[in-house]
Amino acid sequence: MKTSHKSLYEDVQIQFKKAADLMNMNPGIRNILSQTANEIVVHFPVKMDNGNVKMFTGYRVQHNNILGPYKGGLRYHPSVDLDDAKALATWMTWKTAIAGLPYGGAKGGIQFDPADHSLAELEHITRRFTFALGNNIGPEYDIPAPDVNTGPQTMAWILDTFLSTRPQGERNNNLHVVTGKPLNSGGTLGRDRATGYGVVTNISEWARDNKMDLGKCTYIVQGFGNVGSWAASFMKQKGAKLLAVEDVNGILYNEKGLDPDELITYAKNNKGNLSTYPNAATIQHKEFLSLKADIFIPAALSNQITMETAPLLNVRLVAEGANGPTTPDADLILQQRGIGLIPDVLCNSGGVIGSYFEWLQNKRSEYWELEEVMEKIRKKVTEAYSNVSKTAKDHKTDLRTAAYIVALTRLEKAYLERGIFP
Ligand code: GLU
Repeated sequence: MKTSHKSLYEDVQIQFKKAADLMNMNPGIRNILSQTANEIVVHFPVKMDNGNVKMFTGYRVQHNNILGPYKGGLRYHPSVDLDDAKALATWMTWKTAIAGLPYGGAKGGIQFDPADHSLAELEHITRRFTFALGNNIGPEYDIPAPDVNTGPQTMAWILDTFLSTRPQGERNNNLHVVTGKPLNSGGTLGRDRATGYGVVTNISEWARDNKMDLGKCTYIVQGFGNVGSWAASFMKQKGAKLLAVEDVNGILYNEKGLDPDELITYAKNNKGNLSTYPNAATIQHKEFLSLKADIFIPAALSNQITMETAPLLNVRLVAEGANGPTTPDADLILQQRGIGLIPDVLCNSGGVIGSYFEWLQNKRSEYWELEEVMEKIRKKVTEAYSNVSKTAKDHKTDLRTAAYIVALTRLEKAYLERGIFP
């Protein structure tokens, strides 16, 4: 699944320029939004299990906070660097604006492979990173969340470290410094499935607009982590048939269909490794990408659909569960080939919408039922989809550019109302 990596931030600028030109954006505000506000790089030492001290590099990039506190995930991956964090932070600003949330955009992480470390080391790395970030994060300032290779446990460690460094009297009103927490530590029901649910809600809306019957659809998924596995599980509820799954350990293919819930159980019992799952054949990466199916859900890393791979796809719709899976030149190829695409900043927004509801519950000391959370996510995602699809029709453009126009219009209005200090 690895491809050569050109600058993700350059990709963001290309997408941004197209939308800003089309909507004739105010030039001053365009200047502001084409840069990130703060770029924090921290180098910090951690004592390993064997007693050796190792240095790590962590990032937090805050792109914009005109609409509310900075918001976005932290990822643990060897590919994390300043350029990636800048791109991902910028996408978060668009994503929260499209979803109509009172948030800005941020992203960060640590450049390392968590698979090389014990649980105890991961805890120490996470705690020391949180300590290094210090007051650069905070419940009304910048609110991290899970992303690639981080999850509820990571958030619990960040929470505990952050609270432990506050004065006693302030600890319990800082629970919302991170979202995506485990349930007993202030997490919300539904945050685990929120992104996958949002992906499938978007797909259902698109299917309705494009007269596609999901009950008769086939699809393929790249990545079977939190996003891919929950998306597959919700696709099963719609009656769609999963033909193949690609993840870091290999590819599973069964033309008669794979059962997502069975795969989830298998992954749980095998430390996340699906490669030994018995009821499937194995195929190569190129064959996977060329499979004839109705929908492709990339739910792994960025830069997967490129100039080289876009011509291989044999689907009607790409639904971007991952952030940045499609490069701008691949976007054009897909458009020329008549393949629909629901862009990441809309398609995977269910996650940050779920985070918002967790944050609200923490602020109000409330606990909401699962059904209530899911219904609220469904409403927000559906509204966002409908705004974007209407904007696409009004501007006669693709859904990605339309999603940008929705975000940029909201941000532009806020800047025009507030003006520039001093
Ligand atoms: N990391 C997720 C994203 O890319 C979720 C962010 C959040 O919940 O703040 O949207």
